[in-house]
Amino acid sequence: MAEGPEFRTTMDFAYGVARELAPGVVRLVANNPGPFTFKGTNTYIVGTDDLVLIDPGPSDEAHLRAILATIGSRRLRYVLITHTHRDHIDALPALIAATGAKTAGFGRRAAAPGARRRSASGSEFIDQDFVPDVRLEHGARVAGDGWALTAIHTPGHAPDHLCFVLEGTGVLFSGDHVMGWNTSVIAPPEGSMADYMRSLELLGQRADRDCVYLPGHGGRVGEPQRLVKAFLLHRRMREQAVLDCIRSGTNTVKAIVPVIYRDLDPKLTNAASLSVLAHVEHLISRGLVHCDSALSVDRALFVV
Ligand SMILES: [Zn+2]
Repeated sequence: MAEGPEFRTTMDFAYGVARELAPGVVRLVANNPGPFTFKGTNTYIVGTDDLVLIDPGPSDEAHLRAILATIGSRRLRYVLITHTHRDHIDALPALIAATGAKTAGFGRRAAAPGARRRSASGSEFIDQDFVPDVRLEHGARVAGDGWALTAIHTPGHAPDHLCFVLEGTGVLFSGDHVMGWNTSVIAPPEGSMADYMRSLELLGQRADRDCVYLPGHGGRVGEPQRLVKAFLLHRRMREQAVLDCIRSGTNTVKAIVPVIYRDLDPKLTNAASLSVLAHVEHLISRGLVHCDSALSVDRALFVV
């Protein structure tokens, strides 16, 4: 199998220490490392006196203290949410209580799939109840003194996922949609491979020269267009590998996983199964694969 995307598995940071990544953009890393969160969740604070924060992170005393110390006596106008997974949003109530900031995000829509279900990580739950003060649709703009952010709806990892472009800077906050340390987890029913591919294509079409992505986990991503293209190619190749398996008679998700993911960390078996399931769903939705009964990991699949 050809090489996948090049990942950066080092990160220069210290917990509790605000680090400036671009003029007027600082990052704090929460101390919740893990196989799905890398070193922890990134919280970004943008602005000089009038601030906006992106993703408060998990509920963690030390992280909240570091956020409030970084804000100091300045005004926090908005808290933006990339998506409502708990590692990004759980600190929100305490942060709002301490600052009085308004919340903004896509919000869980009533029919959102995956509601109240555990996601692949087993610890990354969904906050189904989040209702933002300001609902952000695709293309919505949030602005303050010296900064303006535009929301890009990028479903796939989560149906409510937004990326944010910081106008006039070349900075794009990419949440868990595009990260430099690993691929995004696409775990049905919360995740959708069809949406994820469309959202990657959406970013791929942007003229983001001299752009940098600041993701929800891991360090900054330089030359992001290369990575977006590599992710698209990686998923297309994986889809082809899934099709080849089914065609050759390795035709259940359970059987396909060890063929595609060699040397898999047992902790990630569930996530890998869900990822293959996401590919199968996407193939079925396009009429390329057929399943006689409701899709699950041990149902027989057939190439149409
Ligand atoms: Zn996350």
